Amino acid sequence: MIVILRAESSLDTKEGQAVLAYLQSKPGITPRTHSITGADRTLSEIYVIGDVGTLDQSEIESLAGVEKVVRVSREYRVIGRHTGDIRNSGFTYNGVRFDQQSLHVFAGLCAVDNPANVETMMQALNAHGQVCTRMGAYKPRTNPYSFQGHGAACLPWVFELAGKYGIRVVAMEVTHDSHVREIQEALEATGHPTGVMLQIGTRNTQNFELLKEVGRQTELPVLLKRGFGITLDESLNAAEYLASEGNRNIVFCLRGMKTNMGDPHRNLVDFAHVPVVKHLTHLPVCIDPSHSVGTRNIGPDGLLDVMQVTAQGVIAGANMVLADFHPHPAQALVDGPQALHMSELPWFLEDIAIARQAYNARVTRARARTQ
Ligand code: PEP
Ligand code: MN
Repeated sequence: MIVILRAESSLDTKEGQAVLAYLQSKPGITPRTHSITGADRTLSEIYVIGDVGTLDQSEIESLAGVEKVVRVSREYRVIGRHTGDIRNSGFTYNGVRFDQQSLHVFAGLCAVDNPANVETMMQALNAHGQVCTRMGAYKPRTNPYSFQGHGAACLPWVFELAGKYGIRVVAMEVTHDSHVREIQEALEATGHPTGVMLQIGTRNTQNFELLKEVGRQTELPVLLKRGFGITLDESLNAAEYLASEGNRNIVFCLRGMKTNMGDPHRNLVDFAHVPVVKHLTHLPVCIDPSHSVGTRNIGPDGLLDVMQVTAQGVIAGANMVLADFHPHPAQALVDGPQALHMSELPWFLEDIAIARQAYNARVTRARARTQ
């Protein structure tokens, strides 16, 4: 059960506190409080966990501070859409809005290698009006002898270069909770020239202790990748772990499933699940065409497979695109074969804009039917 407080009765008011005290007085009930800052208001909510069957919904609704009580009928209590749910989706981080209507491209390096390549990338993004990027500092590698990423050592100069070129959000994978602290410390030490969206990779989707740690901090939003060998429900429960610990600023990322049924792509592209995740949850949905396709294959129509699947995700309503680029893909230390060239950046962005226009036109058409 979710108890939504009136706008004027936030948790620090007398009415808000009275609702909390009422719930705390009930045996077998644990109330957990959350505040969500949406586009037009801050919503104070109380998640009621435990023996909710014993509670009288109309009695709670009659308390002065209560706007609405939503009975959570199924999984994904915090991230899910529920009947009668009036909660907004999304969040604003470092001046950038992420919700189920927005669209942001995070083109960047799979792995940070040297300052020259990072600067080339940031400069190109800035020249094309982009404010987000991806930069891998901690790389989970199959082979223990492969390059593991520069780790904490590269953070100060990566953040400073991002700031220099107006990049507001850097998606960066973490594989251990110490990485979260290192990122927070480096942002602090450099004076917050940019922001970081913590990425949890597909290999860690069910690393529950990492999810709890990342969920307990609310400074940095989280990009959670779908697990490549588990069900969608299991991956959405991983997102629920983050949210239940307190961090609701989550983007859910589809990145392909590991099966040879997807050959010759690196993974079986799963972007048909974009609308499914938007239907089941409030989360903005990201697609990662680079790790899904895994090659630079170009079809007979002249379009790269990476661009084809990006368009498929965007035309279905994706809210974020995570894509690997590199100034010299042949020299990239990680995932060079799937990286797009810098010269392809404007083309990639234009192709996304075409798919987005088509999505918008489709939504307008669908809405016209229901009016
Ligand atoms: C990545 O984005 O660099 C990455 C390792 O992705 P995934 O976790 O989806 O394999
Ligand atoms: Mn990669």
